[in-house]
Amino acid sequence: MFWDKEKETLDRKQIEELQSERLREVVARAVKSEFYSKKFKECGVDPGSIRGLQDLAKLPFTAKQDLRDHFPFGFLTVDRKQIVRLHASSGTTGKSTAVLYTRSDLDNWTEMLARCLTMSGVTADDVFQNMTGYGMFTGGLGMHYGAERVGALAIPMGAGNTKWQIANMKAYGTTVFHATPSYALHLCEEIAAEGIDPRKDLKLRIGLLGAEPYSEGTRKKVQDALGIDVFNSFGLSEMNGPGVAFECEEKNGMHLWEDHYILELLNPATLEPVAEGEKGEMVMTTLTREGMPLIRYRTRDLTSVLPGECPCGRHHRRIARITGRSDDMMIIKGVNVFPSQIEDVLMAMPEVGCNYQIELMRKEGADHIVVNVEVGETFFKGDITDLNKLQRKIQERLREETLVKPEVRLLEPNALPRSMGKAVRVVDKREL
Ligand code: ADP
Ligand code: ZN
Repeated sequence: MFWDKEKETLDRKQIEELQSERLREVVARAVKSEFYSKKFKECGVDPGSIRGLQDLAKLPFTAKQDLRDHFPFGFLTVDRKQIVRLHASSGTTGKSTAVLYTRSDLDNWTEMLARCLTMSGVTADDVFQNMTGYGMFTGGLGMHYGAERVGALAIPMGAGNTKWQIANMKAYGTTVFHATPSYALHLCEEIAAEGIDPRKDLKLRIGLLGAEPYSEGTRKKVQDALGIDVFNSFGLSEMNGPGVAFECEEKNGMHLWEDHYILELLNPATLEPVAEGEKGEMVMTTLTREGMPLIRYRTRDLTSVLPGECPCGRHHRRIARITGRSDDMMIIKGVNVFPSQIEDVLMAMPEVGCNYQIELMRKEGADHIVVNVEVGETFFKGDITDLNKLQRKIQERLREETLVKPEVRLLEPNALPRSMGKAVRVVDKREL
């Protein structure tokens, strides 16, 4: 199903022509901001010399720190009066940054979300319960307006308050929900704990999960527990928020809307493009943003582009699951480990429950990694022999995957703190 078939099925050539044309426009617009007027001068970039995609590499990068240093209005390219909305990043990796939207920016964002929702099967018949935080976080209002645009009945629940969420699912016959994957796992536990059979007692059919990395194992857990289809949703506030890239019915990679963004995948060390299919850092340029265009923004998110065409007919390229941010990478005894590798192992094991947490510490001067794992409700019988076996099995699988042997601590179900929004997966105690 398409929301805007013409734009969603542009072919490669049309996409690239449009990108070139819009790149010229966005560069001409960006130079009106305090930040880019200075930056272009420093780097000797003449905006008029940018003819199209072939000149992209001449443009300087924009870093998260630049947004912080020029907080809040240093990137503004229009009169302040034209800005009608402000959001802020959730600050997972430091001081938050502000994002400014004109009316047209909000409209484009909502259109992209309408495409995403339609692509995953959401229609005007749906009751859409939005379980991410409203307020400064973009996942609330962003998704909300997208759901309204496709004509769904949007319920602005916000994050947390799980019993009330479930009561409302029953009361209003919710068919679609949007949440972080960590919260969705928690929701599954609560639904089970209340003795609800989601297949009989609820009308849920689609879960849209995003805003933090998760594994195929987590998707499967939520799908199986609730009897629904789960689609991966990707976005970041600097690029509007959710709706940047989303899975279609194929559930195989997320189409990134290339009429609104240019995607480059670069080697984070050399800043050169990676080879086709290789993993790299997503570097993105906004093509249609008026209030606050960003050029070659280094997202720090790591992914690869899937090869080939998607059977759904959209030619906007697909990105693979985000394995994490380059700044998520843990260096343990000199070995690079991503939290997502640990999640992959844990969530593929049926004995493992819905939550885990990684602790990094120093033991006798060396790095030490502890993986706290909740055992699944059905498996947790307290039999010590079984638990010891499971502990060794998890430890061995993690060692095979990461090349580091962690200490594994098994916990009872519900032992770890629950997050309502983005989960804190890694606690680094090495500096303490
Ligand atoms: P913050 O950067 O403070 O977390 P945002 O709310 O803007 O603020 O979060 C955007 C980030 O969330 C992305 O850059 C990415 O790291 C992560 N993210 C969003 N969606 C996904 C997803 N589907 N898979 C993995 N990571 C995601
Ligand atoms: Zn597709």
